[in-house]
Amino acid sequence: MKRIVITTMTTLAFFASAVAQNQAERVPAKGFAVFSATGTFHPYEFTRHAIGDNDILIETLYAGICHSDLHAAWDEHTAHGINGIYPMVPGHEIAGRVVKVGKNVTKFKAGDYAGVGCMVNACGHCTFCEMDKEQFCENGTTFTYNSIDRYHDNEPTMGGYSDNIVVSEDFAIKIPANADLKRVAPLLCAGVTTWSPIHFSNVKKGDKVAVAGYGGLGHMAVQYLVALGADVTVFDITDEKRADAFRMGAKHYVNVNKAEEMKGHSNAFDFIISTIPSEYSPLVYARMLKYGKGEMTIVGLPETAMINAADLAMGGAANRKVYGSLIGGIKETQEMLDYSVEHNIYPEVEIIKADASEIDKAYRNVQDGKVKFRYVIDMSTIK
Ligand code: NDP
Ligand code: ZN
Repeated sequence: MKRIVITTMTTLAFFASAVAQNQAERVPAKGFAVFSATGTFHPYEFTRHAIGDNDILIETLYAGICHSDLHAAWDEHTAHGINGIYPMVPGHEIAGRVVKVGKNVTKFKAGDYAGVGCMVNACGHCTFCEMDKEQFCENGTTFTYNSIDRYHDNEPTMGGYSDNIVVSEDFAIKIPANADLKRVAPLLCAGVTTWSPIHFSNVKKGDKVAVAGYGGLGHMAVQYLVALGADVTVFDITDEKRADAFRMGAKHYVNVNKAEEMKGHSNAFDFIISTIPSEYSPLVYARMLKYGKGEMTIVGLPETAMINAADLAMGGAANRKVYGSLIGGIKETQEMLDYSVEHNIYPEVEIIKADASEIDKAYRNVQDGKVKFRYVIDMSTIK
């Protein structure tokens, strides 16, 4: 009996020490979380999974605020089967400095700049991973936050509004040392999400193209399209950004609320990218595509914005191609980043302090269209 008790106690002691060690290896982090769909941001301390042999620890220096963060924090995608996991630390536009590397890491060393976009893991061997399209992993992509991390005990992931992130080197993007770091963060989502369909649709010099929704994503699309030599028209809901669009190289600007400006665009465009984040009619733009060859990509993710299937056939958009696009794979994210830095293509950013009420205010301003063009949180100012 005595022996059984001693053995049990020894076993318990062993597990307690193993658990303690595992806990000790977890990485403490602090950031900002929302605790419900209607909540505001609050400081939040948590831990991240231990730094595995293939992982790196990045000290977050800058984190962009994407409109997708608003959709996620406010739980606006329940209609699409995505539910908010709270507390939620958003942020999928992360630029920072590597502070530690696992023993098998070859791509990074401490001191390098590294970025993280919308994904932190995928299986690596399915059809889509083999195609470098990890965002469509057949075994489930682990997104940077609001996602269940099947590779780490199914814990929910926590994003970039925090002082660090632990990520596999395969999902970290190398940031060239000469990059303008504070403006790099938004490239990791806004950049690649617009870059990817522009290349998928093979846009080329001289093409007549349009960007609908001229915000964080839209202004990146304009810059990539202008750099390609396309003839760019911008559609947005106010006149406030007209001058900015021309400054960025667009040839035409349409305020969609002015009926006369909406005239004369049917059968006009080779390519349209819609980044519109709220209710609208995609068919209006589909009709503007050139008959037989125009392609429209939808990247904006409004809760509701319907295309009626019959309208596609009978509503004036027959023989136009309309498709959705979701971020971009890791390989193309690296290509986009290298191209952007080399060609000095960056987002225009407003830097805010790492402070819960500043983030709340930024969210309201993004919702109300009061940002030009992307908020970026300076995470080094976190207290
Ligand atoms: P922003 O809020 O920065 O930009 C949206 C722009 O669209 C604003 O300029 C807004 O004008 C304008 N707009 C709003 N309604 C209309 C309308 N009816 N017609 C024309 N323009 C309109 O958002 P982001 O660029 O950060 O994100 C855009 C969308 O893309 C979001 O839904 C986001 O979730 C989604 N997204 C999708 C990804 C994907 O992989 N598919 C990845 C990342 C984001 P104003 O400023 O005046 O309000
Ligand atoms: Zn985004």
